[in-house]
Amino acid sequence: MSDSVRLIKERLDIVELIGEYVRLRKAGKNYQGLCPFHSEKTPSFSVSQERQTYHCFGCNRGGDIFSFLMEIEGLGFSEALENLAGRAGVELPKQERLQTRSLSDVMEMASQWFRDRLRESDGEVARAYLKRRNLCAPEILERFSIGWAPSAWDGLWTFLRKKGVTEKDATDCGLVMQGKHGVYDRFRGRVIFPIRDGSGRLVAFGGRIIDGEGAKYINSPEGILYSKRRTLYLLDKAKQSIREKKRVILVEGYMDALRLQIHDYTETVASLGTALTEEQAQQLNRLSDRCCICYDADAAGQEATIRSMYILQKTGLSVSVVRIPVGKDPDELLQSADGHELFEEALRKALPLVSYHIAARRSLLDAPETRKKATEDIVEGLRSLGPVDAEPFLSKASEALGLFPHVLREILYGNGSKKVENTVSRDAPVQKSTAPDCTDCPAMEAALCFMLWRDIKRRRESEPHVLLGLFSHDTVRAVAEAILSGSSVQDLESQWLSMGETAPLHILALGGETADTFGGLNGWDALVSELGRRRDKREYEDLKKAMQHGAATQEDIERFRELAVALKGMGRSN
Ligand SMILES: [Zn+2]
Repeated sequence: MSDSVRLIKERLDIVELIGEYVRLRKAGKNYQGLCPFHSEKTPSFSVSQERQTYHCFGCNRGGDIFSFLMEIEGLGFSEALENLAGRAGVELPKQERLQTRSLSDVMEMASQWFRDRLRESDGEVARAYLKRRNLCAPEILERFSIGWAPSAWDGLWTFLRKKGVTEKDATDCGLVMQGKHGVYDRFRGRVIFPIRDGSGRLVAFGGRIIDGEGAKYINSPEGILYSKRRTLYLLDKAKQSIREKKRVILVEGYMDALRLQIHDYTETVASLGTALTEEQAQQLNRLSDRCCICYDADAAGQEATIRSMYILQKTGLSVSVVRIPVGKDPDELLQSADGHELFEEALRKALPLVSYHIAARRSLLDAPETRKKATEDIVEGLRSLGPVDAEPFLSKASEALGLFPHVLREILYGNGSKKVENTVSRDAPVQKSTAPDCTDCPAMEAALCFMLWRDIKRRRESEPHVLLGLFSHDTVRAVAEAILSGSSVQDLESQWLSMGETAPLHILALGGETADTFGGLNGWDALVSELGRRRDKREYEDLKKAMQHGAATQEDIERFRELAVALKGMGRSN
């Protein structure tokens, strides 16, 4: 072990380092948390302060501060050594210093140069722009290190070259490009936003064009320093706040992120693009378990956006979507009169992801020609969450999709025989409380239908004439009869749907609810016996009426006595 490594290990505490990435809880002698290297819901990641090591009982990763930082930040040993030496205040001997050290230096030099240019007369146009965006206060420029890249071809390159920076290093930093007439600056005529990684290392720049041609925003190219999929704008500043406030606010671009941070939403980061990667999601999940996504109204409905929200939710974060009034972005909203209150309200009313997804697809779900596609889309999202995470949303989703919860479950996790197309109701979504035809149908008889529907063994073993005798309601009995006819439930369902018959499905839905009060499918015996008692009671009342009217035969009277004894035995009161 080199002296530097020993010194670094002496000075740094592993609990503190890992605590920056994992929420740790003291458990006995050690600390525990959710493993940052694999997805889990119960903590199997343990950190020992005594031994200065960590170990995960789930994925078996373990080691010391060096291996931890290398793995979590995707660094090589030398880079980790640089980073930890910096934290520990240990000066590394020259041979241990890294080449990337000099790249970081070049980046910091460039950043300073951009900031200096903003203050010069040439920066007037940029200052005017920032003033329009209400970002010109000196403390804001300072806090976010905003700069200006003048329009000249090689201002930065000339400066760097004078400082002894090689063309290769400047290229590796993404600051210059090779053209026909030589090397020239990548960022020209743009307001500059430095982009740092989670540990504060300057890895890239973003440039906003002021006027003239070109993309509105350009970023540094990916390379030695910068990996787009691992980077979140302002994460270095937001990290502490996210832990304290126990939530992260995710926005799309620079302006929104800056505006929210300025308005004290210091837990804000930007994805710099609508599609979120798994790496970004994992980084956020390490800091908090709640994420409020706050994209532009237009962007939020996009396919890619919703997909990336599911990526987030899948990491274990609970995602909710903040809805900004149409035509505004968060930046504009916060700057409007009452902006702060309006934004607070939007945060409070943020919708859980699945609810948001359904709301965003509402009009497509309502139109017959787009319903199937929209339904599949939502089903796909639910499926991506896995059964445990999807469960809390199933009731709401099934209602919105016009499917029964059990049908939706089967679509999601069944053997694949069930497709969306033959299960989608052709009518308005099921509203159990206002279902037609069965507002007064006996719920328990519907429950019997439901149990038959769900349980193929029960269906085969039952004696149809005995079971059908238990029904008092014609429509419900007809449903039971259809189920007992021998057709598969899938066939029956498509048959009903193709004929536009929704009553059977409403009856089954009602039955599903009632079955629960009998303990689900296990309640079969109790339900049959209760229905039998009610059937006897009905017969008893009919016979009593006939006797009172003098219309009863001798047989009737005997049957009446039989029933009276039987009902008494079972407890005659309802
Ligand atoms: Zn693990």
